[in-house]
Amino acid sequence: MTKKRLSEDVSDASRRTFLKMGGLAATGATLGGAAAAGFVLGRDPDANVGWGRTEAGADMFINREPFQVEIAPSLKPVGDVIRADWGDFLFNRAGAIAHAIKGGWDPALGWQNFPDSRVRAYYAQYPDRWQEMLQSFTAHKIHDDNKEQQRDRFALAWAYDASWHKGLMTSNFPPKPDTPPEQDDFKWVKREPVEFKSPAHASKLIKQMANKYGMTHVGIAKLDPAFVFKGMMRGTKEWGDEIPAHWKNVIVFGVPMNWDPMYAAVGYSSSKEAYFRASNAAGLMSAFLGELGYAARPQHPPVDYELILPPIAIQAGLGENARNGILMTPEVGPNIRLAALITDLDLEADKPVDLKMSHFCEDCKICADACPSGSITKADKMDTVERGFRKWDFNQDSCWRFWNQGPSEGAKGCRVCIAVCPYTRKNNWIHALVKNLEPRDPTSITRTTLLAMQHNFFYYPDAENYHADWSGGNFAGYHEPPEWLRSENYLKVDKTWDYDGNWEAF
Ligand code: SF4
Ligand code: SF4
Repeated sequence: MTKKRLSEDVSDASRRTFLKMGGLAATGATLGGAAAAGFVLGRDPDANVGWGRTEAGADMFINREPFQVEIAPSLKPVGDVIRADWGDFLFNRAGAIAHAIKGGWDPALGWQNFPDSRVRAYYAQYPDRWQEMLQSFTAHKIHDDNKEQQRDRFALAWAYDASWHKGLMTSNFPPKPDTPPEQDDFKWVKREPVEFKSPAHASKLIKQMANKYGMTHVGIAKLDPAFVFKGMMRGTKEWGDEIPAHWKNVIVFGVPMNWDPMYAAVGYSSSKEAYFRASNAAGLMSAFLGELGYAARPQHPPVDYELILPPIAIQAGLGENARNGILMTPEVGPNIRLAALITDLDLEADKPVDLKMSHFCEDCKICADACPSGSITKADKMDTVERGFRKWDFNQDSCWRFWNQGPSEGAKGCRVCIAVCPYTRKNNWIHALVKNLEPRDPTSITRTTLLAMQHNFFYYPDAENYHADWSGGNFAGYHEPPEWLRSENYLKVDKTWDYDGNWEAF
């Protein structure tokens, strides 16, 4: 469960107040009339971090209890459950292919002749994606050839991204495992485990600690083998299907990306600051547990995983499966970057929730329309089955192709689907209200009203406009960049560009 600061009194009062508004039929007019004030509150930077109360006194964390279920809707198996393999992890594939090409392997030979059978296994399943992956290398080369032309415009965004990148890539914290899990997961353990009063006490404490280490969301799930990669174990050369006996529970947590750069995706956004914070929290929490005598194996961005985190976060009640292929929380939408710890500590697990967010995705499709690479399905219902679970079809490889062409120096990123999502909104009372109402609404009035507001109050650049100018776009963003990332405000540069996107604070 997420951290809850909402007292029962506040929660009940909010509900009573709302019910007095005259029922669901009044929702549209009420929300419409309140929108302007809501957006103003949403501008306040202090209301943007995902923590606690809004200025209006409401709490942005939803009481999940009424929505708890035994199995999350998207995690009900519809076929044989198959564990993910090494080659299913995008960064493994991309790295192996880049390495092979660098070593002289000719991509014209096709995936059928790729030297690593794990990569072949993936493209045997998704042969159409092979070309997308190859194009990602071309896209990156074109980016490298052109990026200097845009340095004045993006100088501050590049510096911001680079600062987090360097922090993330050079700190070696949490330390990378260099021994087998039976040894490495216990590296901070110096004594016999200190006994907790109960698993519930242990859960309560560890959630508080996640918050203290800077995470907004935290939940706990029993380790489910379905979401453990096969053939991947850091610190060992060879590893098969085995799951270490001490891997009992997963503490999964996350934090939003800084809102204003994220909204200005593509060019001004960076995943790495939330990656850095989540990774650090994973390291700090593993040391904390070790000091108490318990094993802890951090799972963290950008590539240090043995687990697939989004379904585990769904099991732990943090949110649901979104159309754009990632976790969507009720509080911050898909604007959340995750990390986790696997531990042998006995914990009380959270329950998954059914907040009807998947139903919202059926009607919405805003991310699919905005996606500059066409990677997100526009189907009316979840349209594929992956490893035994129904989900929205999502093309990782074409998304990755687009990630390689952005204007930032590292050229890694997009996040447009996160920025445009109606659930991705700053912490303001109107969104707190809607997020509480939508899952209780047996009609579709709330959803229809919210979507109408979304379409009418916001401007959506055409999907092509998000591309770099060297790829036919104009570096559009869902929002214009915040003032602190506009080079012309602080640097001696000639402003030769116009911005394309919603006004920055809207
Ligand atoms: S990150 Fe960008 S390219 Fe990838 S799915 Fe989202 S909108 Fe599409
Ligand atoms: S933009 Fe709409 S369809 Fe896409 S994830 Fe968000 S709610 Fe779902």
